[in-house]
Amino acid sequence: MREYLKFYIDGHWVDPVEPHAAEVINPATEEVTGRISLGSPADVEEAVAAACKAFSSWSQTSKAERLDLLKSIQTEYAKRQADLGEAITEEMGAPASLANGFHVGLGAGHLQTAIEVLERFEFEEVRGATVIRHEPIGVCGLITPWNWPMNQTCVKVFPALATGCTMILKPPQLAALSAHILAEILDAAGVPAGVFNMVQGSGSVIGTVLSKHQDVDMISFTGSEPVGVQIQKDAAETVKRVGLELGGKSAWIVLDDEKLAEHVTGATAGMMGNSGQTCSAGSRLLVPNSRMAEVIEAATAAANGVTVGDPNGNFAMGPVVSKGQYNIIQDYIQKGLDEGAKLIAGGLGRPEGLDKGWYVKPTVFVGTNDMVIAREEIFGPVLVIIGYDDADQAVGIANESNFGLGGYISGTDLDLVRSVARRMRTGAIWINGGFDFHAPFGGYKRSGNGREWGDYGFREYLEVKSMMGFPV
Ligand code: NAP
Ligand code: MG
Repeated sequence: MREYLKFYIDGHWVDPVEPHAAEVINPATEEVTGRISLGSPADVEEAVAAACKAFSSWSQTSKAERLDLLKSIQTEYAKRQADLGEAITEEMGAPASLANGFHVGLGAGHLQTAIEVLERFEFEEVRGATVIRHEPIGVCGLITPWNWPMNQTCVKVFPALATGCTMILKPPQLAALSAHILAEILDAAGVPAGVFNMVQGSGSVIGTVLSKHQDVDMISFTGSEPVGVQIQKDAAETVKRVGLELGGKSAWIVLDDEKLAEHVTGATAGMMGNSGQTCSAGSRLLVPNSRMAEVIEAATAAANGVTVGDPNGNFAMGPVVSKGQYNIIQDYIQKGLDEGAKLIAGGLGRPEGLDKGWYVKPTVFVGTNDMVIAREEIFGPVLVIIGYDDADQAVGIANESNFGLGGYISGTDLDLVRSVARRMRTGAIWINGGFDFHAPFGGYKRSGNGREWGDYGFREYLEVKSMMGFPV
């Protein structure tokens, strides 16, 4: 049982101004696994004051000083990887191999990327008699979700630190444990007082105060579309910069070629990773109508082959994060049945033999793009297969979405792959499994504003100053 009741403010672990503890539930056991404190506006005020005070010195540090700090964080992060993995399994039910592998690894990857970008970044460029300077924007409020907790936290914290910003992190209540350990890592690495602060609590309290605060210069938010809209409104009066990474309903286009069955198998299994709780998950699988029978056979076998169970056991998929998410997903599966989608794997209820824990069956429907299950983000292990007649129609279906976060293409005809990739209106496309920490990540349309990852993510935390007539 973890007791993480303090906040990290101004370089110290401090008690909340008003004590208010909440339980953290392990979704695999439905039992209490930890306790955290829920902060109040008074805690945010202390954290913002600390971040403001620290900004005057941290923003003036040299590249070398910040690189030294990031490298110390790397050392401390490496020491705590197993602790982070264990906490992620406990709080959100990720299988231990996934938690210790990709979950923790993504955080380490963003740290290494921040180092590489900082090493190369020119903060001043000379254009004739004008010097263009890139300066840290100021105090940043970082508001994160629970589904890839280290990824989403580290992709904000490390560029913010690297650019010379100071920050207040508001972690998700559902993944508060790993955030606490990250704060311990930053403390052990010697982050100067006030540069990084963390206040736990509810989004509607802590997040709202941060979004409206006149001394907060920027909000970087990852989460759902409705909350993103609310933050934008709350931030409007103080004209702060708002970065939004929101939801998705990404299309995975499988082209018509000899590897079709293999690609359908990979896409179906991929959808079930992290229990389908990935903003960029390929949740609409677009396949040639002429080969639907083969597709159904491959997808059914792939979904039924995904083992589900105890995240500390040897299973591919654990539970979903909470009872609330479980119920939302069940409602969507019911909705799919009601609107006449054809169920080819999974369905309602828990998988056979699992009576406790928020486990969902890997579920696959064959449907159409106008169905609710094809339009709305389900955020669970539910795939919708949609047929197309030719590649042009596939692109049309892919783009017929309010979202525009990710896209996937599997195919062997590389000219066709490239042409399809160029026409998809999304912030990222993964072609035959590509991956790159330096590639910008973010959304078109209602999937968000701004970009994270690599140097594009770094620039989000910078202001631009023109100094004209500057003696050079
Ligand atoms: P969420 O409900 O939007 O919550 C995200 C964060 O915002 C949490 O820390 C939450 O606090 C906080 N929050 C809630 N209400 C707030 C308010 N009024 N003002 C400020 N902050 C507030 O999202 P979620 O359920 O955690 O995560 C799932 C969603 O995130 C999905 O839609 C998914 O697609 C999206 N997502 C997007 C990306 C991306 O990069 N595009 C990545 C991952 C997830 P609490 O602790 O109180 O909940
Ligand atoms: Mg939520």
